[in-house]
Amino acid sequence: MTSTNEKTANEPGTGVQHSFPSVFSLENKIALITGGGSGIGLDMARCMIMAGAQVVITGRREAVLQEAKASLGEKAFYFVNDVTDLHGLEGLVQDVETQVGPIDILVNNAGINMKKPALEVTDEEFSRILQTNLHSVFSLTRACARNMVKRQSGSIIMISSMAAYYGLDRVVAYGSSKSGIEGMVRLLASEFSKFNVRVNAIAPGFIETNMMKTAMSSDPNRMAKALGRTPIGHFGKPEDIGWAAVFLASEAAKFITGISMPVDGGNSTGF
Ligand code: NDP
Repeated sequence: MTSTNEKTANEPGTGVQHSFPSVFSLENKIALITGGGSGIGLDMARCMIMAGAQVVITGRREAVLQEAKASLGEKAFYFVNDVTDLHGLEGLVQDVETQVGPIDILVNNAGINMKKPALEVTDEEFSRILQTNLHSVFSLTRACARNMVKRQSGSIIMISSMAAYYGLDRVVAYGSSKSGIEGMVRLLASEFSKFNVRVNAIAPGFIETNMMKTAMSSDPNRMAKALGRTPIGHFGKPEDIGWAAVFLASEAAKFITGISMPVDGGNSTGF
C-alpha cells in the first residue's frame, strides 16, 4: 500500500486523526492461521502480510508449510501442528508467543470436509469432523484468548460455511460442525467483548481450493447448482476470503463482533 493514496480525517466527535488506508493496516500485528499452508489459509496469510502483519501458519504436513513459507517470505513462520491434538494447543500458543511474539489475530481456518449420505456416516466419522472443525477451534481459541484477555486486545476469526446457512445434502457432519461455529462466535463474543477481544466468522461461498475440487469434481450437478445460485456468476478465489479477514482483523472493524459475514458472491441470498 502506498502512502500517496493516504488521506487523513478526524474521527467524528473525537478529533482523533485516522489515516486511510491505515485503519485497514495490520502493521505490527502477529496473526496465527491454522491450516495456512494451502487453499484459503495460504492466501489469507498472503493478504495479511501485504497488510503489514507477521504471520504464523500451521498444518500437519511440513513439506507443504515449507513451500508456503518460501513463497510468503520473511514475515512468515510455520509450526507443524495437528489441531486435533487438543493437549498440544496450549504448547503451540506458548511456542508461537515465545519465538515470534504475542498473537493479536487468531484465524481458525483448518478444516476437513466429508461428503456422504447421512445414513452412511459412522459415529467415528462424525466425531472426526467435529473434533477437527469444532472442538479444536474451541480449545485453540481458549488458549489464545487467555493471553488476549490479559492484554485487553485481540481479534478471533472463525471460518464457517454455506453448509451452516442452508440445507445442503450429504454433508451432515461438516454442516453440523460449521453450525456449531456460528453459535460459538456469538457466545464467545458476548463473553470477550468487555476485554476488547472481538470474535467473528467469515462464511465463504464456493471457493476454488482443493477442498472444493474434491467435493465437486465428481459431481457436476452439485457444481452447476452451486454456481446457479451465485448471482456474481463465478466461484470465489481464496484471496476473496483473505481480504475479508484483513478487514475483520483491522481497526476498521473495531465495532464489529459476534457476526458471521458471508463472502459468497451472493450465494446465500441467490435463488
Ligand atoms: P484445503 O483443504 O485447501 O485446506 C485445509 C487446510 O487445513 C490444509 O492446509 C490442511 O493442512 C489443514 N488441516 C486440515 N486438518 C488439519 C489438522 N488436523 N490440523 C492442522 N491443520 C489441518 O481447504 P480450504 O482452504 O478450502 O478450507 C479452509 C477452510 O475454509 C476450512 O475450514 C473449510 O471448511 C472452509 N471453507 C471452504 C470452502 C471452500 O469452498 N473451499 C467453503 C466454505 C468453508 P494439512 O493437511 O497439512 O494438515
